[in-house]
Amino acid sequence: MAVIRDVMPAFDLVQPTSVADAQKLLADIGDGAWVMAGGLDSFDWLKDRIKKPEVLVDLSGIDELRGIRVTGDGIEIGAMTTLTEIATHAEVRKNYGVLAEAVSVVASPQIRNQGTLGGNISQDVRCWYYRGGWPCYRAGGNICYADTPVGRNREHAIFGANRCVAVHPSDSVPALIAIDAKFVIKNSKGDQVIDAEDYFIGPEYDITKINIIKPGDLLTSIRIPSTYSGVKFYFEKVRDRNVWDFPLMNVASAIKLDGNNISDIRIAVNAVSPRPMRLKNVEAAVKGKPATSETGEIAGKMAVESAVPLQFNAYKIPLMRNLVKRAIGGVQEGKWA
Ligand SMILES: Cc1cc2nc3c(=O)[nH]c(=O)nc-3n(C[C@H](O)[C@H](O)[C@H](O)COP(=O)(O)OP(=O)(O)OC[C@H]3O[C@@H](n4cnc5c(N)ncnc54)[C@H](O)[C@@H]3O)c2cc1C
Ligand code: SF4
Repeated sequence: MAVIRDVMPAFDLVQPTSVADAQKLLADIGDGAWVMAGGLDSFDWLKDRIKKPEVLVDLSGIDELRGIRVTGDGIEIGAMTTLTEIATHAEVRKNYGVLAEAVSVVASPQIRNQGTLGGNISQDVRCWYYRGGWPCYRAGGNICYADTPVGRNREHAIFGANRCVAVHPSDSVPALIAIDAKFVIKNSKGDQVIDAEDYFIGPEYDITKINIIKPGDLLTSIRIPSTYSGVKFYFEKVRDRNVWDFPLMNVASAIKLDGNNISDIRIAVNAVSPRPMRLKNVEAAVKGKPATSETGEIAGKMAVESAVPLQFNAYKIPLMRNLVKRAIGGVQEGKWA
């Protein structure tokens, strides 16, 4: 059903050079504005003529949105910082290796050179029906084409389905949740700082949206506190091929050890649900226990207890069980990021 058309629909292009100007433009334009970062997701929508914004607000001229700053308590990454800059940054690699590793396996080098952290976090779902312009629930229609006996749903959700069964596709987000990142959102009323996992919304809340960004809002930076700086990390991404491919699933953990015992842990999984999942029940269950494969085995079983597979994605249940197991017991095998 995807239709190839020749040119993008007409829109006005505005190129602010400061956050204040961008905010004002977004507030003035309201619903008709489209925020553009690296353009990788944005241009897909525009070239396929599926999204037709009136005004494109291009953030590429705003220097204050770029770069990685060491702060009094951790680091702050501007939303327009590229994935390559993050993957190669000395401080990120030294103390937040789980994030460096997660962004270094996104897509291809060209995409990482152009794609930004804000865009990677805020990108839309990859369900091919929706991307192809089919009028499904997420597109404002009244049906899910993926959740039918013959729907192509191999990559779709095993948790959190509510009419829409698409998954959140980002590789960076589980790593950001694991290191307790905070997202800074600015709008004309001021700044809001929220926990990474609270940025995302499921279809039960608003089926046409993937995050809490409203007209007039801008994600300006990502703050990473020092709480999990330099602890033990694990990141693993499973995909169909080793380049240029979205995750079938990924897992990220940050673990503090007291001897061989887990004194604190944060663990998150993505591409299993419409919003990235932090596994709070697993975190609570393994605290105080040794970071071994045996503990990981118990955690993996617990993680998938309420999974509900679709017609073609039951493989995701043992996959998630094993990824969670390795994200906890991996310390024994030296697989830490
Ligand atoms: C072929 C291909 C393969 C890919 N593979 C992977 C992969 O394996 N793993 C992975 O994680 N990603 C993957 N991606 C996604 C890619 O990494 C980009 O990060 C992502 O498409 C968007 O980043 P961008 O900077 O280009 O943002 P854009 O495309 O410009 O924006 C994406 C969305 O975020 C919104 N947005 C952007 N910045 C902000 C902001 N500061 N505030 C509010 N809203 C904002 C935009 O309005 C838009 O809706 C792939 C993309 C392509 C095209
Ligand atoms: S999974 Fe979601 S995005 Fe895909 S067809 Fe169903 S409603 Fe649309």
